[in-house]
Order: sequence, then C-alpha cells, then structure tokens
Amino acid sequence: TIPQPVAAPASAARNFLTRAGKLLIDGQFVDAVDGRTFTSMDPGNGAVLAHIAEARAQDVDRAVVAARRALDGPWGKMSTSERGRLVHRIGDLISEHAEELAELESLDNGKPFSAALGVEVPLAADMFWYLAGAATRLNGSSIAPSVPYLPGQEFHAYTVREPVGVVGQIIPWNVPLLMVAWKLAPALATGNTVVLKPAEQTPLTALRVGELLLEAGLPDGVVNIVPGYGETAGARLAAHEGVDKIAFTGSTEVGKSIVRAASGNLKRVSLELGGKSPNIVLADADVEAAIAGASLGIFYNQGEVCSAGSRLYVHRSQYDRVVEGIAERARSIKVGYGMDEDTEMGPLVSKEHFDRVGRYLGLDTGTTLAGGKLMDRPGYFAEPTVISAPEAGHPLVREEIFGPVLTALPFSDLDELARQANDTVYGLAAGVWTKDLSAAHQLARRLQAGTVHVNTYHVFAAELPFGGYKQSGWGREKGDEVLQQYLETKSVVIAL
Ligand code: NAD
Repeated sequence: TIPQPVAAPASAARNFLTRAGKLLIDGQFVDAVDGRTFTSMDPGNGAVLAHIAEARAQDVDRAVVAARRALDGPWGKMSTSERGRLVHRIGDLISEHAEELAELESLDNGKPFSAALGVEVPLAADMFWYLAGAATRLNGSSIAPSVPYLPGQEFHAYTVREPVGVVGQIIPWNVPLLMVAWKLAPALATGNTVVLKPAEQTPLTALRVGELLLEAGLPDGVVNIVPGYGETAGARLAAHEGVDKIAFTGSTEVGKSIVRAASGNLKRVSLELGGKSPNIVLADADVEAAIAGASLGIFYNQGEVCSAGSRLYVHRSQYDRVVEGIAERARSIKVGYGMDEDTEMGPLVSKEHFDRVGRYLGLDTGTTLAGGKLMDRPGYFAEPTVISAPEAGHPLVREEIFGPVLTALPFSDLDELARQANDTVYGLAAGVWTKDLSAAHQLARRLQAGTVHVNTYHVFAAELPFGGYKQSGWGREKGDEVLQQYLETKSVVIAL
C-alpha cells in the first residue's frame, strides 16, 4: 500500500534551509572557489528553497585532495570496531532526525512527506546499521598454493581486503537520501574516503547528512559533498586521476559517459542505471493483490523509481479486470503538494523532467484508461496514467519514462511472455503475480533482471543485493555483494 500521511512536519527543516548551501570539503562548509551558486527549487510550487554553492572543477579537485589526505589520517588508523560503531551512529542520527530529513526530501524532490518518513528515511538509517557490522568482518582467506613449476616448494598464502581508496560517488534526484545511504554506508564500512556529488535538483538531504556525519565524529575529509552540475562537477569527478573508483547511479546514457571518462586512469566503476521493468500477472494470480502491487510498482514516488514496474503483462483471461482495477486506482490517487497531509503522489522533480514526461504522454498509441495528461496547476504535476495495448515496440513500451505511466499488454503463452518481458536493453527488476509455485520459480529463472519480486513489488531491504543485468548497470549495491565493490583483494604469498 502507499504509505499513509502522518502528522505535520517540524520546522527543523526550515531552519536548515536558512544555513544550507555550502560545500562540505575537509570537514568545513565552504563556498565554491569562484563563489558561484545555483538554486534548489520546490517542484510543488516553483519556490526557491535555498541558494547552493556550485562545485566546479577546482572545488572537486580540492575535495579529492582532502579525501586522499584523509586516507592517511585518523580514519586510516581507526580500528575496524570503532569504524563500525561510527557507521552505526550515522544510522542513529539519520533516524533521530527522521522528520527533518523527510521534510527536506519532500520539499526538494516533491515526494509525499509520508513516503519519505515512512519508507525512505528508515531504509536509509537501516543501510548504515546493516553495514556497520561488516566493518569488522572484512576477512580474507588462507590458501595453500601448489605451484606446478616449483615441485617440492611449500607456500603459505592469504588474502587481505583493503579499501579501494578515494571513491567518487554521483547520485540522482529520485530518492536522494536513500542514494546517499546506499553509497556512503558501504564506502565507509570498508574504510574508503569519499567525494559525493548529489544531483543538482536535490542537494538538500545530502548536505544535512554532511552535518550529521561531522556530529557523528567522522574525521575531516573522509566524506566531502560537492553539489553541482553533471557536465562540470560530475564529469570532473568521473575523469579525475586522483579518484580510484567511481560509483554512479543515474541514466544509462550518462552511465556510458562515466565509463568513458573513467577509462583515463582505469578507475573501478560500478553503475546503477535505468530500467523498464516488467510486472507479470498470471491467470491464477490473486487479482486484488496484483492490482494493488502493480499500482504501487508504477505509482510509488511518481513513477520516478529506476526499478518501477512500468510494463504490465496480464494473462488474457484476467486482462480487463486487472487493467481496469489499476486504472480505477490511478484515477483515485490524490495528487498534490508533497507536504500536504493527504497527498499520495507529488509533482515530478523539475520543469525539464515534466516536459520530458509530457512528450511521452503526447505520443498517440493504445487506449488511455486513466490520466494521460500533465496537470494545469502551479508545480510540475502529471496524472497517474494507464495505457492499454500500445503497439509493441513503441517508444512508450521500450523507453524509460521515469514518470507515473504504465503500459499494459495481454499475453496468452508463457514462452512468448518471457521473450517479450526480456525484450529490452534493461534488466533491473521484474514482478510475477501467481499462486503457482513452479511457474513463479520458472519465471524467476528466465527473467533477465537483478531483482525478481513474486507476489510483491518494491522490496528494498538492505540485505538484498540490488543492481542490473544488461544496460541496467555493473555490480550490485546492498547485501554482502556491495562490499566487493569497495575493496581490493591482495594475495600475500610466502615461501616456507
Ligand atoms: P542523470 O544520469 O541525468 O543524472 C544522475 C547524476 O549524474 C546527477 O547527479 C547528474 O548531475 C550526474 N551527471 C549528469 N551528467 C553527467 C556527466 N556527463 N558526468 C558525470 N555526471 C553526470 O539521471 P537523472 O535524470 O538524474 O536520474 C534518473 C535516472 O537515474 C533514470 O534513468 C533512473 O533509472 C536512474 N536511476 C537508477 C537507479 C538504480 O539504482 N539503478 C536509482 C535511481 C535512478
């Protein structure tokens, strides 16, 4: 279910807005070298929330120098137990400031305050709590190598897992706080230092977390936060010779440019990219559960979720019932200002994105059962939209819209369905609704997706590896798998 609105927010967030706006470099909040700023806007009404120092190349360079120095400072010498406790404390502080962070997130991104408070802040805190324990468990293995060309010689060998070093992290605007957590928690648990670039649309919660990091006692320079634009600050970070690894979440197109930029010094690269995930309802599914789950799958967070179930496939025998059920829900969703108590869906994040979603809504294919239009009111609102039976292969079915737009298609044959579901350059997530255990497991095997949900959707626990097949990315975040993204393995071999 879409989380229910809760009590009106406190004013701590408004207080933060009055002091927000500097870069965090080497433990200090500072202006940009050239004094430039950009504005952070409220997409629900177009109001200016804060003027934010804009990091460009020189600022990124300073941040990288600070991060490099911090590797050899108190951070590098800290015991893993202390490091783990520090990571845990960051989770505590996020949880203690839940209302404030949720309000900032809602103001900056537009999302309902209730979703930020009920879902995303708890997930963010939990990511730090989960990974805190990993800091003391980064063990290697012991190996007794047999070397064919050295008969009779005995060796003892072991592996050590070491931090990669200075990590650049570039994140998007859709779940900004959660992206901060997915990136910082594993980087810190494994002992790296970080230069983090939030999305230019949503820098606020990252900067507030920056304050909380200092409050938690993180040594200077371990995390540097440099809001700015992608083509300047982001590109500099991706290409920087002083950065050992880049972790990027964003669009597939920009992901490819990150790979090219990173090739200069062959820094390590992990990528969480776009999606166009299939949500599949089999003939025997619990129809009401499927309707609710598929609605959540596409409409949560205005559809601005990389793993949104944006392509619905329903068995022909249940097609009309399921698709009409979702359309009915879409029509009843309360679209409004994120901080209003009864809002279930907020505005899109920006004018640019609003125009982009509008272009997709203008494409003429299939039958529009719900929504279909941008909303004529202040702010960047789009109607929850359900389009039945568009032409297969149409851009609406193939391209990531990243908005509240669901396309629905009927199927009859499971083999054909599996082929269609996989007929995409993406492979981030999928959903299957059925009571048939074998069918569920068979489809789970066949679907080319990093996460397959069965009789549920949008489960984002810290323990679950998350990432994409195909052009949805490289590597996995969360779970134990994320640790490898932030570690080098060293083999030490000793002749006995
Ligand atoms: P985007 O790729 O335009 O921007 C993402 C980030 O990259 C921003 O911080 C931006 O400033 C930066 N950036 C832009 N151009 C850059 C460049 N040339 N060099 C370096 N950095 C650059 O994506 P967006 O529109 O902000 O976010 C939406 C996209 O993110 C969607 O495609 C969505 O699927 C994807 N996403 C993926 C995940 C995931 O985990 N797989 C999660 C959230 C969003």
